[in-house]
Amino acid sequence: MRPNSWGGVGVRKSADLRYYRKYGGELVMNQYVSGIIEDLRKKNPGEPEFIQAATEVLESLSVVVDKDPKYQKYGILERIVEPERSIIFRVPWQDDKGQIHVNRGYRVQFNSAIGPYKGGIRFAPSVNLSVMKFLGFEQTFKNSLTSLPMGGGKGGSDFDPRGKSEAEVMRFCQSFMNELFRHIGPDTDVPAGDLGVGAREIGFMFGQYKRLINRFEGVFTGKGFNWGGSRMRPEATGFGATYFLQEMLKTKNQSLEGKTVAVSGFGNVAWGVVQKVGQLGGKVVTISGPDGFIYDKDGVVGAEKVEYMREMRASGRDRAQDYADKFGVEFHAGKRPWGVKCDIAMPCATQNEVDENDAKALVKSGCKCLCEVANMPLTLEAMKVIIESGILYAPGKAANAGGVGCSGLEMTQNSMRMHWASEEVDQKLHGIMVSIHDLCRQASEEYYGKSDNYVGGANIAGFKKVADAMIDQGVI
Ligand code: GLU
Repeated sequence: MRPNSWGGVGVRKSADLRYYRKYGGELVMNQYVSGIIEDLRKKNPGEPEFIQAATEVLESLSVVVDKDPKYQKYGILERIVEPERSIIFRVPWQDDKGQIHVNRGYRVQFNSAIGPYKGGIRFAPSVNLSVMKFLGFEQTFKNSLTSLPMGGGKGGSDFDPRGKSEAEVMRFCQSFMNELFRHIGPDTDVPAGDLGVGAREIGFMFGQYKRLINRFEGVFTGKGFNWGGSRMRPEATGFGATYFLQEMLKTKNQSLEGKTVAVSGFGNVAWGVVQKVGQLGGKVVTISGPDGFIYDKDGVVGAEKVEYMREMRASGRDRAQDYADKFGVEFHAGKRPWGVKCDIAMPCATQNEVDENDAKALVKSGCKCLCEVANMPLTLEAMKVIIESGILYAPGKAANAGGVGCSGLEMTQNSMRMHWASEEVDQKLHGIMVSIHDLCRQASEEYYGKSDNYVGGANIAGFKKVADAMIDQGVI
């Protein structure tokens, strides 16, 4: 090991060449990068999601650190994979019968180099430190891509909102905020929603925050319109992803007109996708839940079906079968929608929902484009299958950035103490997505000599802005 000029660790040897790139016929990965990956595994045992997300980004950065030694000199990779702060706290609450429960609360403040920590709060039984760190890490790069001044963070709890009364959800949210309030603020850390956290939960948390600090300020995004929310925020993730998809298709002289799209999930994100794909002439034929997927050959199109997705969500039943029962379409119990014939796939549910076999099934079914809308919906093995197949492929951190992009616009509106009309927000959102698309292609062209490596392009473009800011700000 050779110490670098800032006292960090220089080149390290790694036996791990699982992730590599071709270098004159030999399989090599930059040794600084492989050393970081090796250390990451040692330092974070039991955090598979975080290691997966970090490995995927680090692998893309091999070409960047090869080209520019400053990132190694300033120990940027060591620093960027370590959250600035991870807060873990007890969340006690009482159910309607008076029984006491304890959940674990988290806020991972990952990186504040380019702005206050920013990212959603997730309530789901699967939440743990690994999931929080993976999401906070991804958020850092995603937020950087939006070109807005937002750092990366994520929070949540292993609380399961399913089957809870409104009063129980409110007591939980208040207890969660009784600890979190001291760690957040409009210029410190601005949470929002994510899985299991919608306008209702944000309302309960915002209300408690305001009561505790006795100030009305833009500390959350995704707020109700009447109390500081932005127009279009509910639609933004799905609309933004579809705008990104539109740009990808344009590069192949294609449009959404007449295209068949397979979607997973039926939550807020899928709801936005279904609407925008329909408006642009495409047809979403599947949506899914934990119970299986529905196949609607006529498409999830029209106000009645789109509205029904909201009802499904509000019911708290978490069942896709309800759609099949209501509209008399096929339901495939216990299955994921990746085997159906489609032109485009848009996974909108959750991490690792597409595994290697699903990816093979997608390629076999003739799918020509995969646009990730959930955060990290593909396993590393699935990614490999999709990349090798050569189909057009965009990562979530670029394609789903419209959600947090619109959150950034909500912060701006709050600072200005005004609201923009829907058209204005939508236009800005569209501009943000077109710009992210261009940034990905430019970085891909510069580092890989071809413009459609969206995965590498997104990682590199997101990274460079944050890394350069970290260098400017010294060793902190
Ligand atoms: N949870 C969303 C995401 O994964 C939105 C975050 C936000 O608006 O801060 O990007």
